[in-house]
Amino acid sequence: MSFESLGLSPALLRALAEQDYNTPTPIQVQAIPLVLAGHDLLGGAQTGTGKTAAFGLPLLNHLSKQTSANGPRKPRALVLVPTRELAVQVNDSLKSYARHLRLNFGTIFGGAGMGPQVDMLRRGVDVLVATPGRLIDHIERGTVKLDAIEVLVLDEADRMLDMGFLPAIKRILGRVPTQRQTLLFSATFETQLKQLALQFMREPKQVQV
Ligand code: AMP
Repeated sequence: MSFESLGLSPALLRALAEQDYNTPTPIQVQAIPLVLAGHDLLGGAQTGTGKTAAFGLPLLNHLSKQTSANGPRKPRALVLVPTRELAVQVNDSLKSYARHLRLNFGTIFGGAGMGPQVDMLRRGVDVLVATPGRLIDHIERGTVKLDAIEVLVLDEADRMLDMGFLPAIKRILGRVPTQRQTLLFSATFETQLKQLALQFMREPKQVQV
């Protein structure tokens, strides 16, 4: 199996080759075609399996097909993650895959000043990687608009619930358009998480590694 056969754009394939990604991992083989086809996805995967590229590559492929209008950009993709460390890591990975695309990235997390995040949002981003609590702060202050979100990713969803982010996640889900693609990755699927998926996802396909 090769990345070429999964249906990704030449700009993404070039970035992968430059980073010595030669063979897709099992979660990537399973998830990428489903996400490219527009399905919602429930992914059972731990860190280290290549799940960031499994959702990131098809997400970037989608965003690159249609560039947004000139002027300040509203985020079109939102990736929710449990921690600041993961936000930085996911953002770095996505940027490295998108090095030949014209997309702007931004991160939002707690424990850092609001000012730079507000400036970044004002300048405009296409892809926002955020922890739920701080994103709620921005929503309340009116410094972020989520009405242009086309793809929503919940990464390490079980950890986000363990950290008490369920109410924040539900509020965020109420702010993004209902017409969207939702991708949820988790190592485990407890009842609460299954209920969340049932409530907020549309006939999700399931992949498990
Ligand atoms: P993740 O599970 O997304 O945190 O990825 C784990 C590590 O594997 C990261 O350092 C990735 O850069 C790397 N990685 C992911 N997919 C591939 C691949 N297909 N080939 C080589 N390295 C990869």
